[in-house]
Amino acid sequence: MSGILVYALHYEGAFNKNSLGAVSEGARLAKDLGTECHAIVIGEGVGDDLAAQLGAYGATKVFKVEGPEGLAQPVVDAMAQVIESGGHEYALFGGGLLGFEIGAGLAARLDAGVCMEVTNVRVEDGKLVAERPILKDSQISSVHYRSKVGVIIGRLNAFEVAESGSGAAEVETVDVEFRPHSLKAKMVQRGEQRGADVNIEDADILVAGGRGLGKAEGFEQLEQLAGALGGAVAATRAVVDAGWWPYSAQIGQTGKTVAPKLYLAAGISGAIQHKVGMQASENIVAINKDSNAPIFEFSDLGIVGDLNKIVPKLTEAVKAKKGA
Ligand SMILES: Cc1cc2nc3c(=O)[nH]c(=O)nc-3n(C[C@H](O)[C@H](O)[C@H](O)COP(=O)(O)OP(=O)(O)OC[C@H]3O[C@@H](n4cnc5c(N)ncnc54)[C@H](O)[C@@H]3O)c2cc1C
Repeated sequence: MSGILVYALHYEGAFNKNSLGAVSEGARLAKDLGTECHAIVIGEGVGDDLAAQLGAYGATKVFKVEGPEGLAQPVVDAMAQVIESGGHEYALFGGGLLGFEIGAGLAARLDAGVCMEVTNVRVEDGKLVAERPILKDSQISSVHYRSKVGVIIGRLNAFEVAESGSGAAEVETVDVEFRPHSLKAKMVQRGEQRGADVNIEDADILVAGGRGLGKAEGFEQLEQLAGALGGAVAATRAVVDAGWWPYSAQIGQTGKTVAPKLYLAAGISGAIQHKVGMQASENIVAINKDSNAPIFEFSDLGIVGDLNKIVPKLTEAVKAKKGA
């Protein structure tokens, strides 16, 4: 049969918002196409109960695969096998690095057309058309699929989670023959990446941290300040490379370009590659212990001092001002 196959990532016995949004979107589109939305879950010892939960978001059937969870290649093998035997016309993913990797791998495996960073999907002449923002989100490009299978990869949390009101989905266990190379990578550790689901490009207030924070835990004080201000946390490449903060929040030449109302930089030197990503901010406030730091050359307000003393005091002051 034809239909839409959606990959649903689960972690510690629950599906994340991104995956539930993708299943909801798949179900909406399947309805418009007059077909079905199926989901696929992969993991070690995944219970039927967990898989069946996706029925509440519109999946009519869930393929359950025993295999390593959270790694791209085993999912590519599993999805390719299910699509080849089931005849699905589209594979749909939520955003995020894993979705990008699986989607790209699946497109290569099936010789399928792929569109990433999709924010909307519509039905036109009985086919899906993916819409993705281009040119710094100033234009929308419509992507039509000519291949037998079309791969659609959403932007992180772009698809709205919608409960369909239907009950549990039918669960079908599938035995997958993994390719030898697919089992070479091993999951060493999994953890939640703080801040990874925040869309920093939409934030009016950004509190950005750099190497001056000293260690990953240094971000906790920035999270508190951002929380008090109602903003989000961003980072320099130096700290993203060090694994202190997710890449999705990196500002600069090889990260994102932002223009919030307030950009508060703590422990950031102001290298040109960082500057190009944030110089259009309306107000730039920098905290740096080095009065010669380049960031002061393009800041509206500069505070020379130790961020570990200034940031907590600033947070308290903001809270007091807001009456929290
Ligand atoms: C091709 C290329 C692409 C790049 N792309 C990017 C990019 O996209 N984004 C990006 O950010 N960088 C990018 N870089 C890296 C960039 O050149 C800088 O290395 C990086 O921005 C420096 O990050 P930082 O400011 O966190 O660290 P540093 O340059 O090490 O600065 C740390 C600052 O913290 C201050 N400090 C230390 N302790 C304290 C304290 N207790 N209180 C207050 N201040 C303190 C120091 O005085 C210093 O100014 C790129 C580089 C290259 C070559």
